[in-house]
Amino acid sequence: MMNHSEAATKFNLDEQKVNWHDKALWFVRHKRDTAAHKVKGWEELRSLASQIKANVLSDLDDYLIRFEKRALYNGVQVHWAVDAEEHNEIVLDILKENKAKKVVKSKSMLTEECHLNPYLLAHGIETVDTDLGERIVQLAEEAPSHIVLPAIHKKKEEVDLLFQEHLGTKPCNGNPEYLTEEARKHLRKKFLQADAAITGVNFAVAETGDFVVCTNEGNADMGAHLAPVHIACMGIEKIIPKQEHLGVFLRLLARSATGQPITTYSSHFRKPRKGTKMHIVIVDNGRSEQLGRPDFRASLHCIRCGACMNTCPVYRKSGGHSYNSTIPGPIGSILSPGIDIKEHSSLPFASTLCGSCTSVCPVKIDIHDQLYKWRQIISKEVPQSFVKKTTMKLMGTIFSSPMRFETVGKIARWSLRNLPKAVINAKPNVWGRNRDLPEGPKQSFEEWYKTRHKNE
Ligand code: SF4
Repeated sequence: MMNHSEAATKFNLDEQKVNWHDKALWFVRHKRDTAAHKVKGWEELRSLASQIKANVLSDLDDYLIRFEKRALYNGVQVHWAVDAEEHNEIVLDILKENKAKKVVKSKSMLTEECHLNPYLLAHGIETVDTDLGERIVQLAEEAPSHIVLPAIHKKKEEVDLLFQEHLGTKPCNGNPEYLTEEARKHLRKKFLQADAAITGVNFAVAETGDFVVCTNEGNADMGAHLAPVHIACMGIEKIIPKQEHLGVFLRLLARSATGQPITTYSSHFRKPRKGTKMHIVIVDNGRSEQLGRPDFRASLHCIRCGACMNTCPVYRKSGGHSYNSTIPGPIGSILSPGIDIKEHSSLPFASTLCGSCTSVCPVKIDIHDQLYKWRQIISKEVPQSFVKKTTMKLMGTIFSSPMRFETVGKIARWSLRNLPKAVINAKPNVWGRNRDLPEGPKQSFEEWYKTRHKNE
């Protein structure tokens, strides 16, 4: 598997696409800022959300049991899955029990994490993703590249070609209205034919056993209202204590995600309609382990708004697929090493540590601090390349002595001024591979500062 920088290099081959991807996400980040600034007490709201989540995590087992009790009382069947494999088996068993062959699914990062679609397909069950972005990537046989905007890496012209191939649409030069209308017709048929609907869960209320699913297209509702069986899949961290807390999270979620005051559909589910069945699958899949890591447990506060991705300069320039992980971007770079430290060891290094992610996170996760902590752990636990290890040691020696620092500075400045570019940007200089370094100044900052003072 390619590490992050190798995969990012691939994405960077199409410079136009990179610029457009960067701009599109920055536009969303800007909308988030405008929406957040309109809310009085936004910072207090973030703190409150963070405190509610910290409270939930400190008593998670109790909240989960309370939620299960209420859900059972409401007539919902509750299942527990320790990992992705068990989650998939449970979902398959429910579908088999109900002789379901056609399933519609609304956006759920958990089912992506568990690779549910290919699993069901291998067992003869067709699963159609009904969120438009998700359907686009499903037709393209790709993974979502963003948790809120799954097809953000695709241009409308590419969607045009994809729909021509799979849905038999006419060429339309990427006309978004036409493409959306065609997708609607196509999905409507799938909704009407579905034997079961799968949704994710944004918030599960311990006090009542209710759960809330947020979508902008109403596709979760279409699926759950038409199919005789509704399966809702949730991670154990989705619990909130009381219904009154929903107001805090719903106000934060949409504004942080897309700059909307509220998600178009915030659908509340409590019990199955007469003659239908409702199941909830509660999944751990490594979350308990993350809970047991004091430095990283706050990452479980995440409400999957995607704001940290939209603001991250590395994500915007490298694309979501370069993270090779279901949850990309800054928060994914904290969660993924917890699942497999070796496989995802490059991710915490895919950050400038500028802290922009931390400052937009609606639940105040200290994202850049956690990335920095992962780096320290990974440097010790995962074998590093000889070049990296030696260079870091050398830099450590240079930085620890002012005299050595000054001497190396002099050599570097002279080299920048006098050596040809081919030498300066030779292979070991990864930084210089894609960037022109400035001309070396004649003086160091210290020398310049001293001269300036002397002349005053
Ligand atoms: S870490 Fe924070 S900003 Fe990033 S997706 Fe989660 S809630 Fe949103």
